[in-house]
Order: sequence, then structure tokens, then C-alpha cells
Amino acid sequence: MRKIFIVGIFILIFSGLVYFVLAEKFKAPAIPVEQVEQIHQPAQPEQIVEQTADESAQPTAPSKEKEIVEPISGAITRVTKKPFGLKISPSNSPVSPEKFSGYHTGVDFETTEVEQNIAVPIYTICSGKLLVKKQATGYGGVVIQACEINKQAVTVVYGHLNLSSVSAKINQELKAGQSLGVLGQGYSAETDGERKHLHLSIHRGESVVLLGYVSQAERLSEWLDPSQLFIGD
Ligand SMILES: [Zn+2]
Repeated sequence: MRKIFIVGIFILIFSGLVYFVLAEKFKAPAIPVEQVEQIHQPAQPEQIVEQTADESAQPTAPSKEKEIVEPISGAITRVTKKPFGLKISPSNSPVSPEKFSGYHTGVDFETTEVEQNIAVPIYTICSGKLLVKKQATGYGGVVIQACEINKQAVTVVYGHLNLSSVSAKINQELKAGQSLGVLGQGYSAETDGERKHLHLSIHRGESVVLLGYVSQAERLSEWLDPSQLFIGD
């Protein structure tokens, strides 16, 4: 009688264990795996903003992701003809021939003699979505990117590019310093007949504005001076 009782207890414990193991194995997860992954994924990559408030503070670590990157190597040294806000007309322009007149809404980065027949790479200056990639009068190939600079929404115009070298697609998220493409060949359709150079302008707000020149000086306040961002780069 005692033997039967012990065997009975043993069977009870054993079947309990089997039930527990099977239940664990076939238990449906409370939330599907895909959902769990989405919950843990941030909607947007965290932006790392460089500290500028205290100049006496420690220098920023070199590994830190940069918010603003120059669009072309040695950017500042290339601004030799048309800085931001310069007023030009065909009769007094630093370039010849000149077909434009008005106040320059961007900065022109020039190329050297050696660079005339080699690929000159252009990089995104900030992180943000590609909005426009097209052929336009006055530019040839032009690319426009939406960004945030100093926490303000802006649109960045990269003018005179060889569009066939721009592989990024409309609405694609681009990181600052990412290779965008190369400059268009001078005096060709790629630059709309202009010399080989990069016209870069930064318009405040989210609207796409292709204007390279404005007729009133007051309107320049709609744009940022890009060269201010690359000093000390
Ligand atoms: Zn220009």
C-alpha cells in the first residue's frame, strides 16, 4: 500500500514536470518579436550636437559625430570669387562671362587648374533628407537637402553637380559628410555653362528655394552665410 502511494506521488511529480516543460516550449510570446524590436528602435537616430556654449571647456572628443561638415576639401580657401551676399552684375562680376546680377545668396567654392579634368567630390554638410535632384536653369545639376542647423530647419542647395554621379534617392536620409557626388564639368550642361565650382546656399525654413541671387539686400536674411559654418574646420 505504501509502495503504491510512493509510486503515485512519483508519477504526479513527473507528469507535473513534463507539463511545465511543454507549456514553456509552446507558450506564445506576449508581443510578437517584430513589435518588440520596433519598440526598442528609436524613431530617429540621436543627433549629437557639438557644445559651443563654453569656449573654455575641454576640446570635443575627435570621435564625436560632427553636425556640420565642409562640402569640399579645403572649403574656406576656395572662396575666392563670390562670397555670401556679394552684389554683382555682368559689368563688375569677378567672373567672366557673367549672366547673373543681384546679391549672391550662397557661397561659391572654386576649383584649381588641376581639378578641371578630375573628379572633385562633394559631401553633404549636414544630416537630413534629400529633397530635390534635378537639372535646373542656372545650375545644371542641383541637389537640395533638408537639414537642421543650430536647431533651425533649413534647405541646402548644392549647385553645379554632375547628376549622374549622385546615387542618393529622393527622400533618402543622408548623414553629414556623406559622399554626395562630384562637380559637373565646367562650361557644360552639368554646370549650365558655368565654370567648374560649387554653389552652396542655405535657406532658412523648409521651403525649396533655388534663387542664387536676389535683387534686394534685405532678402539675404532669408539665407545663412555657409562660410561661417566652416571656419576652423
Ligand atoms: Zn554661386
